[in-house]
Amino acid sequence: MDMDGDFLKVRAMNFPRSIMLGHGVIQQTADICRSLLFGHEGLIVTGSQTYEAAGKLVDDQMTDAGYAMSKVFVGSTDQDNIDKAVEAARKADAKFVLAIGGGSKIDISKMVSKETGLPFVSIPTSVAHDGICSDRASIKTKEGAPLTVSATPPTAIIGDTEIIVKAPYRYLASGCADVISNLTALNDWDFARKIRDEEFSSSAYALSKYSAESIMKAAPVIRPGMEESVWYVLKPVVASGTSMCIAGTSRPTSGSEHMFSHALDLLHPGKAMHGEQCGVGCIMMMHLQGGNWKQIRDALKQIGAPTTAAELGLSDEDVVDALVAANKVRKERFTILGDTGLSRNAAINLARTTGVI
Ligand SMILES: [Zn+2]
Repeated sequence: MDMDGDFLKVRAMNFPRSIMLGHGVIQQTADICRSLLFGHEGLIVTGSQTYEAAGKLVDDQMTDAGYAMSKVFVGSTDQDNIDKAVEAARKADAKFVLAIGGGSKIDISKMVSKETGLPFVSIPTSVAHDGICSDRASIKTKEGAPLTVSATPPTAIIGDTEIIVKAPYRYLASGCADVISNLTALNDWDFARKIRDEEFSSSAYALSKYSAESIMKAAPVIRPGMEESVWYVLKPVVASGTSMCIAGTSRPTSGSEHMFSHALDLLHPGKAMHGEQCGVGCIMMMHLQGGNWKQIRDALKQIGAPTTAAELGLSDEDVVDALVAANKVRKERFTILGDTGLSRNAAINLARTTGVI
């Protein structure tokens, strides 16, 4: 309700235009590009391994369809690789970008799109987190710290279950854990709304919740090597990313459990995957929030995602350190951790009670 008389609210939302999910849909890449009226020259942003797995297939298909394709191989999501891809796009006079690979290739393409204004198509070869369709990119600073920045969402998403099922199962399990972890992010958002009067979106909240609950429900049938499992995960992952596009922030999918994961990235980088860390964080934060943390733990176990420090490849001490540091990672984001965060003893108690250590 507008209490001041003048109605001044404005909200801009950017969404993908075309989403194609399912068996063999990568074969339709050229048709989708044509329907989106992309220009003649295109750039493929990929890695050398993912090029072999899926990139070459798309490259040949696009060339046969009359497109002039260039390609650039990039590594992790740092400024050097972003600059390299932007440079390649300018040199090729590209009119569009095809991102083919895991999260880093897609995040780099989001940044290329943001810097050059070019549309891009997200063609994931694995689904390790919910970033394949969001308007946020996770990049690394010069110091190696993780940073989430606003970027351009993909114009189209082509999620081919036949390709994605070939990625190591650990990636898919991590993607599930990332989406399940929306449940604690949503509780944190609700606290922030009630305690700080923070801007809130009921539709983003509902969509993010739907994503997490769909994966929880599908947990018993998400298994390695089954293409159906990829199908059960893809739609919620896309919906989860879309909830960020609606909210215009990562709030619906990132709360205290993500701060725990970010703290681990800073203190012990490279040990576990983002989604795996968020899943374990979600078990503990749900306990703090007074919710059904056992249900989260059981779903993660069923899927085969880590639920303990040892399964993350971390020591008990590492987990406690990250719990204590978590509230300092993103100070402006109000969560159950509050301004003061957890004391060392409280962190030990929490990790022990939830069986994480
Ligand atoms: Zn995440």
